[in-house]
Amino acid sequence: MYDNIFEEDKLHDECGVVGIFTDNPELTSQLMYYGLFALQHRGQESAGIAINTGGKIEYYKNKGLVADVITNDVIERLSGGLAIGHVRYSTAVSNTIENAQPLVVKFKSGSIALAHNGNLVNADSLRSMLENDGVIFQTLLDTEVVANMIARNANGDIIKSIKNVMDIIKGAFAFVVMTGKELIGFRDHFGLRPLCLGKRPDGYILASESCAISAMGGEFIRDIEPGEIIIINENGIESIKSSKYAKQKSCIFEYVYFARPDSTIDGINVYEARFNAGRLLAQESPTKADLVFAVPDSGTPAAMGYAHELGIPFGLGLIKNRYAKRTFIEPTQELREEGVKTKLSVLKELVKDKTVIMIDDSIVRGTTMRQLAEMVRKAGAKEVHIKIASPPVTHSCFFGIDTPFRHYLIGVTKTVDEIKDYIKADSLYFLSLEGLQKSTGSDRGFCLACLNGDYPMEVPKFD
Ligand code: AMP
Repeated sequence: MYDNIFEEDKLHDECGVVGIFTDNPELTSQLMYYGLFALQHRGQESAGIAINTGGKIEYYKNKGLVADVITNDVIERLSGGLAIGHVRYSTAVSNTIENAQPLVVKFKSGSIALAHNGNLVNADSLRSMLENDGVIFQTLLDTEVVANMIARNANGDIIKSIKNVMDIIKGAFAFVVMTGKELIGFRDHFGLRPLCLGKRPDGYILASESCAISAMGGEFIRDIEPGEIIIINENGIESIKSSKYAKQKSCIFEYVYFARPDSTIDGINVYEARFNAGRLLAQESPTKADLVFAVPDSGTPAAMGYAHELGIPFGLGLIKNRYAKRTFIEPTQELREEGVKTKLSVLKELVKDKTVIMIDDSIVRGTTMRQLAEMVRKAGAKEVHIKIASPPVTHSCFFGIDTPFRHYLIGVTKTVDEIKDYIKADSLYFLSLEGLQKSTGSDRGFCLACLNGDYPMEVPKFD
């Protein structure tokens, strides 16, 4: 029996998490601000921090961007050597303060705070099981289900309880948890969502991406392994490996779109992977043109790689309004289409009378490309060739990347030729799956489910 996590064309939680253990309590909340600010791309709906002030957990969270939520006042008010934080990207429906994180709960053995990135596929059935047992929930978060399970199993030993709970929950998760005395991180058995460890002269950092560690003045040490629990306290670092089968299946979409280019995830630098994807795109589909340009920002490294490989000039054919919010999460198709125009405009002077190659990282519903191809043509381009630095998205993600129902995915409803006609391009090419894997330069395992339907675990069946 599967949980109905796809009740509607609802978007899923993509989040960023940070944790710090330091002997510099005065600096902690400022450092948390820097870390969360560096992860803002992972979630713009809400932000929050929880700090251990002498054994007592204090927290502040609210809807909004990091700079609006973690104000100077909050930074001055919250101090203590141990903290965790969260940024959230969620559905419009569930974007309420109650659903913001970190989640702070009190139970018999004390208080804990939790922050989670990912999506559990069995959270609903676990929730009903707990509810049948009389448990009352205050939020819709999977995180609260996990908090309850950890608390119920704890019996004075939180780590043992986490280890047990990790074997029961299914799906994708990267957690940072804070108790009265320690910072704990754990990652699902496939390592679907990223989590890494860094060091500062005064302590340790856990973060979704290495760019947050750099922003916090730390040095990257390593990624947390699939199924690993890492415990940081006054005695240093301890690592516990899961007894369950663990196999690396890093999410390929982190490299395609989601992560920041200056992050290195599971040994692969995101910028390099995107640049290589562009070079491989050029090898697989070379087209003669006067100009290559990107759909900024996520298409930029691939467009640079493509231009570099074929020696075609690279330019800024599209200019992005840096204050625009993301169009992908607009609730209706009409708003999504309008949104593209407010976000991007064509540099007419550059594209006029030219044969151009426009490169983006991915096509999901086809909204962005259709609008852009038309705008570029209206601006006077002679020919518009489109190259995409990943294969068509053909399957929904159940592990925390925001992909809609299958029937909204243009890669499901149309062939590549039909997509070309729909977006009115002179030609269209998608990077092959082999090319995409090769672009990472790594033979570590990847979750490619959104591109080939090969899910690393059983998932609900929804169309
Ligand atoms: P679409 O317009 O639906 O085809 O979406 C493709 C555009 O959205 C591309 O420009 C991508 O960079 C971007 N994109 C791809 N995946 C996501 C995602 N999970 N969340 C937000 N934007 C995305």
